Amino acid sequence: MDLGLRGRVAIVAAASKGLGKAVAEELAREGAEVAICARTPRGLEQAAAAIRAATGRDVFWQALDVTDPAAVAAFVAAVEQRFSRVDICITNSGGPPSKLFSETTVQDWRAATDLLLMSAVSFAREVLPRMRKNRWGRFLTITSVAVKQPVDGLLLSNSLRAAVAGLARTLANEYAAHGITVNNVCPGYTRTERLDDLAGTLSSRSGGAPDDVFANWSKQIPAGRLGRPEEFAALVAFLASERASYINGTSIAVDGGLSRGLL
Ligand code: NAP
Repeated sequence: MDLGLRGRVAIVAAASKGLGKAVAEELAREGAEVAICARTPRGLEQAAAAIRAATGRDVFWQALDVTDPAAVAAFVAAVEQRFSRVDICITNSGGPPSKLFSETTVQDWRAATDLLLMSAVSFAREVLPRMRKNRWGRFLTITSVAVKQPVDGLLLSNSLRAAVAGLARTLANEYAAHGITVNNVCPGYTRTERLDDLAGTLSSRSGGAPDDVFANWSKQIPAGRLGRPEEFAALVAFLASERASYINGTSIAVDGGLSRGLL
């Protein structure tokens, strides 16, 4: 199936590793012009080289922290200058720390809000007016299966991802008339560095081994295994494509059946 992504200009945030990088690679493979960001230049350089090796396509990158609205604005402007427009934007960031409510400070809540919610708001503020001008756009937020079913031990994530899902659903209503779709994608347990770190934190809290944490997660998943980043990226590429023109305002999980809700 031709997704119609050839020549489309796509921004993928927080994409030097893990889910973001897999999405950037999939979009590049489908022929899109891809721009990525993350905080560490070396990681971005390596990701761009790996994507070039896998797909034969160059990737534009800029180092920035997605919690800095001015840096996000400068990045989007640089992408537009380079490629003349922005068609697709995938928001993403690192995850907040795993804490129990009694361990959180007001600063933790503010930091998680900046990291998860305000970073998506910053990208929306920059890209949606540009997409509106072109009467075509795809805005996708990467959140978590936590918006379908809160994950024990991930209080900050559970709370702020729900806010991002609310943002995406409302933007979908406000921008549909301008040829823009807005959807939210919800990864379940997918094997990335973030998940390795999380398994380490949870196992040190319980006194077990990280492998026990992975085994416990796998047991909860009907598929009986963790996801692979490219399985997540396949959905994102489809939603970003011409083919997904009538899919708007949804939150779709890629979780091997983990979340148990009917919808
Ligand atoms: P990952 O492997 O740790 O990769 C995170 C990426 O984000 C890296 O490229 C990192 O690069 C970049 N990043 C982190 N903080 C940033 C910031 N403030 N500004 C710009 N870039 C930043 O994580 P992942 O597993 O791909 O997860 C991506 C998101 O999905 C996270 O929010 C995670 O909580 C969520 N999620 C993941 C899973 C899963 O199973 N993997 C499940 C549900 C939700 P730098 O460090 O160089 O900035």
